[in-house]
Amino acid sequence: MKKKLGLKLFLSYLGVLLLTVALLWLAIQLALPASFARHMGAASGGNGMMLGRGANADKPPLYDEFKAGVNEAIFWAAWVAVGVAALVSWLVSRRIVHPIRQMQQASLHLAAGHFDQHVPVLTDDELGDLARSFNHMAEELAQVETRRRRLIGDVAHELRTPLTAIQGYMEGLMDGVLPAEPETFAQIHGETQRLSRLIDDLQELSRIEAGAYSLNIQPVKLDEAVRTVFKRLGNQFEERSLTLQAQLGSRELVVLADSDRLVQILTNLLGNALHYTPAGGTVTVRAHQSGGQVEICVEDTGIGIPAEALPHIFERFYRVDTSRSRRRGGSGIGLTIVKHLVESQQGRIWAESPGEGQGSRFCFRLPAA
Ligand code: ADP
Repeated sequence: MKKKLGLKLFLSYLGVLLLTVALLWLAIQLALPASFARHMGAASGGNGMMLGRGANADKPPLYDEFKAGVNEAIFWAAWVAVGVAALVSWLVSRRIVHPIRQMQQASLHLAAGHFDQHVPVLTDDELGDLARSFNHMAEELAQVETRRRRLIGDVAHELRTPLTAIQGYMEGLMDGVLPAEPETFAQIHGETQRLSRLIDDLQELSRIEAGAYSLNIQPVKLDEAVRTVFKRLGNQFEERSLTLQAQLGSRELVVLADSDRLVQILTNLLGNALHYTPAGGTVTVRAHQSGGQVEICVEDTGIGIPAEALPHIFERFYRVDTSRSRRRGGSGIGLTIVKHLVESQQGRIWAESPGEGQGSRFCFRLPAA
């Protein structure tokens, strides 16, 4: 590659040079007689042409000697210029080809899965920009790879837990340690349900992360969406002796959103509030408009979230109390999905909690219609 590009550069320099020399030579041949006559005429008081071609047949004409001298000078100057062109093209091609070759090598390593590639930024021109972009791309790829590896590890871990439990129950049954009665089967059934819920959640997350879903954004009346979710979850709140209420203000709030996805977000947040609030507690949906946005909060009087966990609450598989969440079939994916859904509708979401045992508040903003 180096040779090819270097040769091309040299040939392009040589081409320009030869063209310049040819034009120069042509121009000199055309201009020389008149120019010679004028200058010689001036030097000999108006008889310049006498000294020119054929002025004196006995002596070699001065003009021809002069012309031969000029041509010789052009000839040697052309060779010197060819030498300079070769040197310059070699230097320039080295400066261009060297970083390109480095990037080519690094990209081959990247393709082979070695993501710790970095090429030096040697210049502040387009090549430097290219090297910077290359480094940025390599860093992004390395991060994607890290996330992919972590995801595979997390998924394997999440799948292993219920499978190990099922295996334990089955071995207990086979060894006769566990009684073959409905309660044991119910436990096994519960674990298989947990597995299939996890797989459903993973499927939904991968669909959402890949953007493989469509949004039908239109004005949605918030109270209607809230009513739908209350209808869906009302019984479960009653069963757990929890009060479920909405405070949406007197003015009708309308958001620009996909109504199904809005219901999914609220269902998820209220589902969490239901599970993390002890009996007798209260869960409230509040909303108000501020500027061009509507802020919707799901507030509970439940177990709360410790301050150090708040920044991680929307990360996939993150759970404050892993065993507690897993017992209820939680996968730690729900809030990750919710965050994606809110952000894909031009909104943002955050969580607040005064601390453990003091309740939590999940708020999100969506554009007002
Ligand atoms: P999970 O399926 O485990 O509930 P989520 O992504 O929905 O997963 O939530 C992540 C974690 O955030 C939960 O495991 C829980 O620790 C915490 N969390 C979510 N909602 C609440 C809430 N209302 N009160 C207290 N903790 C919560």
